[in-house]
Amino acid sequence: MRANIVVLPGDGIGPEVVEGALAVLTAVAHHFNHTFITSTHLMGGCAIDEMGTSLPDETLNACLQADAVLLGAVGGYKWDNPDAKDRPERGLLALRKGLDLFANLRPLKLYPELMAASPLKAEKLTGVDMLVIRELTGGIYFGDRARWTDDAGEEWGKDTMIYSAGEVRRVAEIAFNAAQGRRKRVASIDKANVLDSSRLWRKTVTAVAAQYPDVTLEHVLVDAATMHLLSRPASFDVLVAGNMFGDIITDEASMLSGSMGNLPSASLGEAQNQHGYPRGLYEPIHGSAPDIAGMGIANPIGTIMSVAMLLRHSLGLEDEAAALETAVARTISAGHRTADLARSGEPSLSTQEMTAVIVQNLQGKEG
Ligand code: NAD
Repeated sequence: MRANIVVLPGDGIGPEVVEGALAVLTAVAHHFNHTFITSTHLMGGCAIDEMGTSLPDETLNACLQADAVLLGAVGGYKWDNPDAKDRPERGLLALRKGLDLFANLRPLKLYPELMAASPLKAEKLTGVDMLVIRELTGGIYFGDRARWTDDAGEEWGKDTMIYSAGEVRRVAEIAFNAAQGRRKRVASIDKANVLDSSRLWRKTVTAVAAQYPDVTLEHVLVDAATMHLLSRPASFDVLVAGNMFGDIITDEASMLSGSMGNLPSASLGEAQNQHGYPRGLYEPIHGSAPDIAGMGIANPIGTIMSVAMLLRHSLGLEDEAAALETAVARTISAGHRTADLARSGEPSLSTQEMTAVIVQNLQGKEG
């Protein structure tokens, strides 16, 4: 296969973890005889510095023409001024919207050897295997917003949570389709006891469920969901949530795995690439981690596992994706750890060393 992949390293540890992911992608290309043509573009804080905007047109156009996009992370202290007219995160939201990537898939599977790195007890973690699907281009992150000062000098801020039935339906369908290939359970997360947008969410998801009689639907209020994720995480199969609720519960769920540095994501829409697969955006779920940027100690697994998702969803290369996932699992079971995964006193590998072991395992040379 010949595929065009746009690479957006971004800021902070983004370029460090993307370097690891590209080394792995090159190894997959050699090992399985594919040609992956990569081109690197600016997005986020680095784009504000060099081009004066967090999402240059040239970057968005390159992404629109690619088979898939691989992103590191954006943001950092330097661009944190809340009054700035452009911010790195704005570029990310504009990219998701520009590519119409309305469904963000975040699989969470635990490595048994890392259970000790999780804040939960091992007995709670046995059997945890969930897929969180977050709506990505609607809801409160894209609703009407404003900041103003009233006549009495009081400052106000406003954001609007707004969904159309169509926006809910298309992401719900992705959740139910995914559940059919898994344990056939969907938990829909909302706040229908308070919010009208959630009542529409619940009604629409219930209507979609009627087309999938083999899948069991459970409605869970978001506050209860945060509790159940800690008390009964193994009971969840597929979770589907609006943009903000999904953002929050996925960070919480990520800690079940021991470190958010482990977790990948895929953002998909309806647009297809030249191979007839969805043109997706693939990125680890973590941010730019400015506290460890430049130290060479970031965990590359989330980005490397995002490459596995890219191979599977945007290029249809299931064997290659599975081989990469096996190489990562072997690396962990052989005891290799980056600093975020190592227990105190345990030795740890740098980003580059961890990547090198994963590449060795991919090539069948035990690392
Ligand atoms: P973060 O995810 O960057 O970091 C949270 C904590 O996890 C930090 O202690 C960090 O060191 C650690 N961590 C994260 N990824 C790691 C990895 N791969 N290996 C080892 N440790 C890792 O979240 P934050 O600190 O809240 O945000 C930092 C910046 O990232 C902010 O500017 C934020 O807006 C941005 N952000 C970007 C994205 C994105 O690009 N998709 C997502 C979330 C946050």
